[in-house]
Amino acid sequence: MGLAPVWRRREREGDSGSTGDPPADHAPVVQGVHNRGYLPHLKAKGGLYFVTFRLADSLPQEVLRQLEVLTDEQRSMQVDQYLDAGHGENWLARPEVAEALKKVLLHFDGERYRLHAWVIMPNHAHLLIEPFGEYSLSEIMQGIKSVSAHESNRLLKREGAFWQPERYDHLVRDQEDFDRCRDYILQNPVKAGLARIPQDYVFSSGSPASEKRSAGGSPALQDRRPAGGSLALLDNRRSSIMRMDWSELKASVAACVACPLHARRNRTVFGVGDENADWLFVGEGPGADEDAQGEPFVGQAGKLLDNMLAAINLKRGKNVYIANVIKCRPPGNRNPEPAEALACEPYLHRQIELIRPKLIVALGKVAAVNLLAREASVASLRGKLHEYRGIPLIVTYHPAYLLRSLHDKAKAWADLCYAVETMKGLQSGKSATI
Ligand code: SF4
Repeated sequence: MGLAPVWRRREREGDSGSTGDPPADHAPVVQGVHNRGYLPHLKAKGGLYFVTFRLADSLPQEVLRQLEVLTDEQRSMQVDQYLDAGHGENWLARPEVAEALKKVLLHFDGERYRLHAWVIMPNHAHLLIEPFGEYSLSEIMQGIKSVSAHESNRLLKREGAFWQPERYDHLVRDQEDFDRCRDYILQNPVKAGLARIPQDYVFSSGSPASEKRSAGGSPALQDRRPAGGSLALLDNRRSSIMRMDWSELKASVAACVACPLHARRNRTVFGVGDENADWLFVGEGPGADEDAQGEPFVGQAGKLLDNMLAAINLKRGKNVYIANVIKCRPPGNRNPEPAEALACEPYLHRQIELIRPKLIVALGKVAAVNLLAREASVASLRGKLHEYRGIPLIVTYHPAYLLRSLHDKAKAWADLCYAVETMKGLQSGKSATI
């Protein structure tokens, strides 16, 4: 047997959660309670399951009928291959839909069940789940599918079945089985060609962001530019954005609903300035003033940025372009979530391609870690020449931070002087040493 656990059809659930067939298989399955050196979760009374559930259009009945003649193991392999090939509309490849399911999955994690591992693929999802106390797997799965179907249909502006009523589950037998199921889940995006390593895949427990989120911390940004791309279907959107000219790009941002931030914005904040500028300043995202006016860096932080520019003989709009990592305001001015930054990244990337600046100045940590695609503090990044896709990049503090931390203004001034010196070298044709 390979890495994949063998699937056996266990349940049918109503797609909406309000109706649905009663569970077909309710024979109580009690995991071994004797001690053979298994971890405590493997002795759990309610059992521990590898569960697969998939989108309504991911596996046609006709294919399922053809697979009926196969053994469980052969069927598992065929189903895996079929799902990973990306049949159907692949609604879960849309970050906002995957994010909605992720939120539902994590909502009761630690309260009604423990999720030992999970992954959201473009047309299906796998869980390694341990129900708690009085909560049955059937109830839990019906709740997850019902709430996520409702929210996904709302986001997709569609109606009808979202999930296939059937799900497949596998009772985990022992530690070896547990390890195999967990490996399968974490490796699934890699096997399907959606990520280079499990950590690169945003919608999985293998992502560092997911680990921190489950633990109640803020999600960490991660390397979001894996060699194989993050979600294959995002590549279509990205390729289309990469072909846009300025007017198409502006129109696309203005109409964008690719991440949940669109729902609460007043205005998108595209960017402003000289479209042939040598200087590109990049901040994190719009705040309340920017959201109201549709322009980046207005309000107090904007005034400070203008003063910083003036101090090095620059002016907004003259050989200077100003943009943000994300174009819509995150609620409460929180940092953008990795999935939001990932969804918005092609826009900034295309802006940079069109502007072709000589130098990028990243303002603050969010801009720096998103452009450099690695987690690090501003303190550790400043004073060095980095690069974004071959363009020299310098990191300094965000003006909003400087308004609160006056003692770091001298460091920001040193960074600007460093940027000016670097630009002189670049404008004179000397190559910058990165
Ligand atoms: S933040 Fe970016 S990806 Fe998200 S809705 Fe706004 S423009 Fe689209």
